[in-house]
Amino acid sequence: MMRSALLLLAAAVHVAASYPANCCQSLKSKLPGQVFLSNEATYAQLNNQRWSNTSILAPNCVFQPKAPEDVSKGVKLLVTNSCPFAIKSGGHNPIPGANNIDGGVSIVLGALNQIELASDGKTVRLGTGARWGQVYKAFADKGLLVPGGLCGGTGIGGVSTGGGESYLLASHGWVVDNVVNYQVVLASGAIVDANQKSNSALYKALKGGGNNFGVVTRIDVVAIEQPKIWGGSILLPYFPDSAIATLNAITNFTTLSNTQPNNGAQVVITYTATGQALIALSVASTDGTVNSTGLAPFTSLQPQIANTVGLRTISDIVTELDANQADGFRDTSATITFKNDPATLFAVHNASDQVYLKYNATVPYLDWVVFYVPTAKIDSTHAAARGGNVLGLEDNPEDLIVAFITPRWLDAAQDPVMYEMAREWVDAVTKAAGVNRHRFLYQNFAAPSQKPLCGYGAKNVEFMKGVSKKYDPGEAFQKLVPGGFKVSKAC
Ligand SMILES: Cc1cc2nc3c(=O)[nH]c(=O)nc-3n(C[C@H](O)[C@H](O)[C@H](O)COP(=O)(O)OP(=O)(O)OC[C@H]3O[C@@H](n4cnc5c(N)ncnc54)[C@H](O)[C@@H]3O)c2cc1C
Repeated sequence: MMRSALLLLAAAVHVAASYPANCCQSLKSKLPGQVFLSNEATYAQLNNQRWSNTSILAPNCVFQPKAPEDVSKGVKLLVTNSCPFAIKSGGHNPIPGANNIDGGVSIVLGALNQIELASDGKTVRLGTGARWGQVYKAFADKGLLVPGGLCGGTGIGGVSTGGGESYLLASHGWVVDNVVNYQVVLASGAIVDANQKSNSALYKALKGGGNNFGVVTRIDVVAIEQPKIWGGSILLPYFPDSAIATLNAITNFTTLSNTQPNNGAQVVITYTATGQALIALSVASTDGTVNSTGLAPFTSLQPQIANTVGLRTISDIVTELDANQADGFRDTSATITFKNDPATLFAVHNASDQVYLKYNATVPYLDWVVFYVPTAKIDSTHAAARGGNVLGLEDNPEDLIVAFITPRWLDAAQDPVMYEMAREWVDAVTKAAGVNRHRFLYQNFAAPSQKPLCGYGAKNVEFMKGVSKKYDPGEAFQKLVPGGFKVSKAC
C-alpha cells in the first residue's frame, strides 16, 4: 500500500516536471474513456499492473484501447504528432522502459483480451491483452493444448513477437512457429493481417522481431488436441552432488530431445534471501506418456523433496509454477546461449555463482534465480512449415542451452547495483562459455546491454530492416517507441 502510494507520488512529480500534455489531451479527446492522466485513479491501477516493480515508470498518460480500431486511431494520432509511446501486453518484462515509458503514452492492451476457439476448431484467437495462464484455463476443459509461455503471467504480445519457449519446443518449435496469423496495427493506423499469404514478409519478421513493426492486437495460434499431459514439478535440495547430477541431466535431456521430442523441461536453481538453496525441475511429457523415458534424466534425480508429476492439465501445472514467480518485486534479466556441452555448462554455472556470491554479500535482500532451458537442434526444424522465423536458428547444427537469470530484490536504491550485476554476469558467463558461446540470445530474456537482434545473424537483420522500411517508412516504431530491441540499432 505504502509502496504504491510512493510510486504514484513519484509519477505525479515526474510528469508535472517534464512533459507537455498535448499528446495525452489530444488522445483523450479522440478516445474518451480510454485515456487516463496521472491525477485519475485508473492511471495508477493500470500503470501498476506489471509483474515487476522495476517496470512501473511515470508515463504522461495511460491509453487502454477497447478494440483494434481504437488502437488504430490512437497510433495514427501519436505517430502524426510525433508522440513517444510504449506498448504493454502482459507486462511481464522487468526491464525499465521495455513495456512502459517515462513521459509519453503507455498503451496497455489489457482490454483486448479475447480468448476463443476459431470456427475451424483447430486454431485459437487470442487478443494480445490476455495472458497465457488465462488461455490455458479457458481451454483446460476443451482438451486443447496451446503453445505459450510457461509462466502464466506472461502476455500473448511479448511472447508471440519475441519467440516463445514452452514444453512444446522440441515437438512443435517456438511459439512463433505456431502462429498462423498476426493482426497488426501499423504506424499509418492501418489494421492488417500478416500470414503466409498476406503480408508474408511482415508475418515472418514478427516471428522474433519484437515491437519493431506495429502493435499486434490479435494472434491466431494452432491448438493441439491433448486433454492432459504427464508433467509437474520436482524439487531437490541444492548441494554439490545434486547440482552436478542436475547439470548432467540437462545436457543428457537436451540430446535426448532430438529423438524423444514429446518432452519439455526447464530447470530453475534458486538461492533465496532467507538462505534456502533449491533446484526446481519443471517437466512434461506433452503427449501424456506416463513415466516417459525422455524425462528419465530428470525424474530419476534424487533426493526429491517434492514431486507433483502426474497426468494433469497444462493450466494446473502452470498455476503451480506461478507460485514461485511472484510479482511485486524488483527484477532484472540477462541471458546467454551456449553449446550443449557438460564442461561448458559447469563453467557457466560456476561463473554465475561467483557473481551471485559477490552481490549477495552486499545487496540486502536478494533472491537469485537461474533458468536453464534445453534448446535442441530439432526445435528449429519446425519453423520452415510456416515460412520460417527471424531467430536465425534454422541452420543451427548443434544442440544448445539457453541460460537466463531473473534475480529479485526489494529496495529501489539497489537498482543501479543490480544492473551492474547483470552486465558483470553477462561478461562472466560469456568468458566462461568461451568458443562454445552461441550468437543467439533470446530477446525476452536479454539485458538492455545485450544485442539479441544482432545475434539472429546479418541476413535476418537486413530482412527485418527491409520490412521496417516497407511497413513503417517514417520509422515510428524505431524513434517513437524507445522500449524493446530496435532493428535500427541491432548490431
Ligand atoms: C520468471 C519468468 C518466466 C518466464 N517464462 C517464460 C517462458 O516460459 N517462455 C517464454 O517464452 N518466455 C518466458 N519469459 C520471458 C517472457 O517471454 C517475456 O517476459 C515477455 O516479454 C512477456 O510477454 P508480455 O506480453 O508479458 O510482455 P510485455 O512486458 O508486455 O512486453 C515485452 C515487450 O514486447 C513488446 N510487446 C508486447 N506486446 C506487444 C504487442 N501486442 N505488439 C507489439 N509489441 C508488443 C513490448 O513493447 C515490450 O518491448 C519469462 C520471464 C520471466 C521473468
